[in-house]
Amino acid sequence: MNVTICTIGELLVEFLAKEANQGFSRPGEFWGPYPSGAPAIFADQVARLGFGSVLFSCVGNDAFGEMNIVRLARDGVNVNGISVLSKATTGSAFVSYRSQAQRDFIFNMPNSACGLLTADHIDETLLNSCNHFHIMGSSLFSFRMVDAMRKAIENVKSRGGTVSFDPNIRKEMLNIPEMSQAFEYILDYTDIFLPSDGELDYFGLNAGHHEQKLIDKLLRRGVGQVVVKRGVRGASYYSEKEEHHAAGYPVTVVDPTGAGDCFGATFVSLFLAGYAPQDALKWANASGSLAISQRGPMEGTSTIADIESFLRKQGILPTSSQLRTQG
Ligand code: ATP
Ligand code: MG
Repeated sequence: MNVTICTIGELLVEFLAKEANQGFSRPGEFWGPYPSGAPAIFADQVARLGFGSVLFSCVGNDAFGEMNIVRLARDGVNVNGISVLSKATTGSAFVSYRSQAQRDFIFNMPNSACGLLTADHIDETLLNSCNHFHIMGSSLFSFRMVDAMRKAIENVKSRGGTVSFDPNIRKEMLNIPEMSQAFEYILDYTDIFLPSDGELDYFGLNAGHHEQKLIDKLLRRGVGQVVVKRGVRGASYYSEKEEHHAAGYPVTVVDPTGAGDCFGATFVSLFLAGYAPQDALKWANASGSLAISQRGPMEGTSTIADIESFLRKQGILPTSSQLRTQG
């Protein structure tokens, strides 16, 4: 099947604190600017795998915006849906790691160019070229953005397309009321749901809900596939008929930001392209592992060749010499 996926949301530059526990309360050194924004990383990963990828966003008329557009276009993303606004600056994020699992952010998003995106920026003709729409929960920070999402959901679904949703919850954004209201609405249209294990509780009616019960509830609600990301422990796939688990690969963690986005993009693209769910899961795990091995949120996106070479090194795929011996 021809796979063309669209995403809508933040396109930012990210600055990464050089030291662990550096924080933002005292002067320190940062790496960056790096191209970033969860939907943008997702879109970049889809394109690098060779599938159609359209990103709708807004940037300012500045060097950060230009760097992002040039980078996405180089990797094969269709950037015609990115508007350059003259009255706003490109969004930014600062990240500081406390440990590998915990990090703090300062986002300049709702007040930046991407925060001004409205449904009017979503071009119907471009939307008509897509048969899947991916939503990042981190993008649901304003009513304007939620309206834009609604337009894309209605368009893609009315043409028989599908929707995936990664809640991508950032503790810094949980007090935005638009976000929690939109989550419920979007779940009603979600075919592939991609939460992290830590995020599942948020979707349970009672805190402490058993994971399996919650997954069963989502499947009964009409979500076709639930894919749970488990960090170093890999990922799991659930549908009405099947359940698969894939262990994570042992890799050195350089920068975990972007792992979930690369994982999601790889799973969704390959699943839509017809890979068996257990294979899409293995390929997506490899994509997440490759992402955390590189510094910078979008620097670790992979091609199919990168993933297959990684899987051969892990012994998941046979090497050419093994194939010769078998043959
Ligand atoms: P993000 O921080 O990008 O939002 P996430 O919480 O959505 O991440 P994770 O579960 O952290 O998602 O990571 C996605 C995938 O990346 C995992 O399912 C796994 O395949 C891989 N991965 C993440 N962390 C590690 C790790 N420490 N070692 C090996 N693989 C990892
Ligand atoms: Mg995530």
